[in-house]
Amino acid sequence: MNYDQDLQNYFEADTPETVIAWALQQWGSRLGFCTSFQAEGMVLIDMASKMKADIRVFTIDTGRLHQETYAFMDQVRKHYGIDIQVYFPDLLQVESMVSTQGANLFYDSVASRTTCCNVRKVAPLRRALEGLDAWVVGLRRDQGESRRGIRKVEKDYEHDGLVKISPLADWTRDEVWSYIKTHNVPQHPLYAQGYTSIGCAPCTRAIQPGEDIRAGRWWWEATTHKECGLHYAPETGSYGRQLELLVDKKAS
Ligand code: SF4
Repeated sequence: MNYDQDLQNYFEADTPETVIAWALQQWGSRLGFCTSFQAEGMVLIDMASKMKADIRVFTIDTGRLHQETYAFMDQVRKHYGIDIQVYFPDLLQVESMVSTQGANLFYDSVASRTTCCNVRKVAPLRRALEGLDAWVVGLRRDQGESRRGIRKVEKDYEHDGLVKISPLADWTRDEVWSYIKTHNVPQHPLYAQGYTSIGCAPCTRAIQPGEDIRAGRWWWEATTHKECGLHYAPETGSYGRQLELLVDKKAS
């Protein structure tokens, strides 16, 4: 199959269930469901686990997640009877970064925050994607400007041309929550505390009424896009070189 522009458009009218069923049939265990246990990821796990008992689910543990996320991860594992593959950042990179720039470097500048996201999220994701042919994510187009152009099925040029699948691309937030309520899908406990987007504990807060749903992410960076690099190339680019330098620094 050729994942060119035609194929990208081919799935646009399909339901999430149709896209997931097709992807499972196409790739089986070489298809990975990436989740941070937010509402969209839970919808995908719920849909897919009803089609295949042993779906491949993975997550990135940055080492800075909320305690509630760890508890919820266990709840999800038990609820669906699935394994969740957990990927950690590289020890040497974290040691070097924290030793030279501090544990909370992300508050210093956008560049420092990007470094932390690269070490703790982007690099482990690359490892998680090794051995996969395709990955499924919970992105939606109305989550922000940088996500407006995503397709339900597209080639992921940031990750060696893997196929990236966003079955919920055209869903609204209301549709996600309607599915969760209708199907009794477990939900992350921080939603009940006013969070609308959940990431690392020091970089996520609850939002105030009227604020944008991603306003609670890196809230001190009022003028930047609200992305960590998992789904959007970091502004600084060359993160591979950045990581090499951190390890070199640690080793020297
Ligand atoms: S969200 Fe914050 S703590 Fe998590 S990886 Fe990015 S900068 Fe680091």
